Amino acid sequence: MKIVALAGGIGGARFLRGLRAAAPDAEITVIGNTGDDISLFGLRVCPDLDTVMYTLGGGINEEQGWGRAAETFTVKEELGAYGVGPSWFGLGDRDVATHIVRTQMLAAGYALSAVTEALCDRWRPGVRLIPMTDDQVETHVVVEDAEQGRRAVHFQEWWVRLRASVPALSIAAVGAEDAKPAPGVLAAIEAADVVLFPPSNPVVSVGTILAIPGIRDAVAAKTVVGVSPIIGGAPVRGMADACLTAIGVETSARAVAEHYGLGLLDGWLVDDADADVRVEGIEVRSRPLLMSDPDATAAIARAALDLAVELKQAEDVR
Ligand code: GDP
Ligand code: CA
Repeated sequence: MKIVALAGGIGGARFLRGLRAAAPDAEITVIGNTGDDISLFGLRVCPDLDTVMYTLGGGINEEQGWGRAAETFTVKEELGAYGVGPSWFGLGDRDVATHIVRTQMLAAGYALSAVTEALCDRWRPGVRLIPMTDDQVETHVVVEDAEQGRRAVHFQEWWVRLRASVPALSIAAVGAEDAKPAPGVLAAIEAADVVLFPPSNPVVSVGTILAIPGIRDAVAAKTVVGVSPIIGGAPVRGMADACLTAIGVETSARAVAEHYGLGLLDGWLVDDADADVRVEGIEVRSRPLLMSDPDATAAIARAALDLAVELKQAEDVR
């Protein structure tokens, strides 16, 4: 069984850990979002790729969901003592080593996909992790306030520094239209039996991956099942509602499925709280969707995979 999953950070990574447990013999390829990537202190930081790599590799800070376990922040404190910011981004000492290796390899001419593979040699995530593209794509958010007027800021500045407290007027994946899928991305999708969308942010994680020319069409040709990141009209954690509002999509399990659309989604898993959701042309199933512990998460992944296999078999018969 060959499975492709499009993943952002925390929600994606936790789901993937469940998927790996639910389908230990499957060949899983993860296409990671790089729209959140940012250069800080001269270092290239890829938050979503690293969250997937650390989570599946056993190095994640479990409570936080991002960053390294047993982390210290001496480098950050020392930078602060020099008055060198930004101070709002939590770069830990252990984490910094990852970014140094990445930045050094990129400077030596390696593509991000090759760098990611090299980093995964250490972490052995048990999946093949490929960035959506080797080209630079950055998610920018247009905000407006009284002091500084209307301006575009990097996604991380809006998400981490402003905690999405300033409404986003629009969100754009800058550079996406000219980007190419990284080597192996389209081939993995074409070879996949099924494609899964974890409960990742539908706008700035899955949406950004789908914005890379060629990826959406390749995915649409497959049997695709998504897991709703919205339960009972609210994100389970984080501020995904602020992203949905920015693109004019209601924060509900039904609206997110309709946003992906029946051209893309074949099946949609919603929480029991949303059991009444119906979407024309998409097979909707409900079950508990809280990734509260590894067993519960594996059961969610199993349900998504079972639905995908069922829908694929039905399609193959037709
Ligand atoms: P990313 O989009 O994968 O980078 O990760 P985020 O941490 O930003 O979370 C993305 C989405 O996952 C958010 O919209 C959350 O609502 C959703 N999410 C987080 N935990 C759970 C969970 O336990 N169950 C479900 N169904 N969704 C979750
Ligand atoms: Ca993310």
